Amino acid sequence: MGSIFPVSKRVSFSSGQRMMKKHRSCNNQTEGGGGEGEGEGECQQQHLCNWAELVLPWLSPPDLASISSTCKPLYLISKSITNQRSSDASRSLENHHAPIPFLNTLDTHPYSYFIYTPSSIIGFPSSIPLHQSWGRKPQLPIWGTPSSPILHPKPTDFPSLMVENASGCGCSDCSEEIDGKFHCPCARLRPGLSGFSEDVGVITECGESCGCGRECGNRTTQRGIAVRLKIVRDSVKGWGLHADQFIRRGEFICEYAGELLTTDEARKRQQKYDELASQGRFSSALLVVREHLPSGKACLRLNIDATRVGNVARFINHSCDGGNLSTVLVRNCGSLLPRICFFASRDIVEGEELTFSYGDIRLRPKGSPCFCGSSCCFGVLPSEHT
Ligand SMILES: [Zn+2]
Ligand SMILES: [Zn+2]
Ligand SMILES: [Zn+2]
Repeated sequence: MGSIFPVSKRVSFSSGQRMMKKHRSCNNQTEGGGGEGEGEGECQQQHLCNWAELVLPWLSPPDLASISSTCKPLYLISKSITNQRSSDASRSLENHHAPIPFLNTLDTHPYSYFIYTPSSIIGFPSSIPLHQSWGRKPQLPIWGTPSSPILHPKPTDFPSLMVENASGCGCSDCSEEIDGKFHCPCARLRPGLSGFSEDVGVITECGESCGCGRECGNRTTQRGIAVRLKIVRDSVKGWGLHADQFIRRGEFICEYAGELLTTDEARKRQQKYDELASQGRFSSALLVVREHLPSGKACLRLNIDATRVGNVARFINHSCDGGNLSTVLVRNCGSLLPRICFFASRDIVEGEELTFSYGDIRLRPKGSPCFCGSSCCFGVLPSEHT
């Protein structure tokens, strides 16, 4: 039905910062200031710690590393923030929250830094995701400009993504079958295993315009990540997403979330990413999915950039043998755009890396090197010019 091409999903993303080892003590600084009593020094230190616990979780890794080198209390707070960041990539923003930890036994990158979003948001050409608190209490992310922050985005937060006056279903139970067929009109294409052999399958689910709730049996992909996952560092491929439990064939894994871009904006960003990549180690995660519409004349193109804003799917590496994930376009009743979701294409054992095929290698034989390690590896990552 379609094909899927990451325009440039490269490996060896490096954004973690080694924690500074050298530090001075705050006590020395406050007590050395002209003979104030110990009580005042402690008080100042308490103020500093209170301030630091509010501010430090918002800092990027380089800023956090430099502030951690100023005194011992800040070093300790930074260290605990680093630990919390590496213990959960999802920043507690997934519905069924099981932490998704970073595991690295190879080098000094404790985690990968990016803005987390459980579902795709609209990427404005001029919008730079500002900051997201990460490393203290779970907090809501803030995007956009200070004057128009976008809080905790869900598809429903973007009216432009909804079809106006769409009529959903009014079933009492959407999973009910009549004569072996689902009665619910939204379930005409259900998650099933048969369609998963194609490059990109399509399924339909209930959505915002339906009368049913999130617990509806035809909303498999709308309840967040339900399987345990972990992000593991590989010496060649960089970070990769792994199963942290047995996953049965057909189970929903996650959505590919990021910034939804116009094709113009996607091309501009791709050019910038290519420049950055040529200057050194840089990993982008811009995915382009084309769905050829039944007429054969038109083609729907989805550009999702998870380079700066995304979810755990940005860590899924390519495999030339097709990997163990199926890519499925999910249409939710009432939503204008489909979402890209991953399902297990076969049983997956605990610890196994999750991979999918980025596309057809024949289209652009001069891509980046591929390290998938499969017996049929082409040696080159599939990608194409936009
Ligand atoms: Zn229904
Ligand atoms: Zn429905
Ligand atoms: Zn329903």
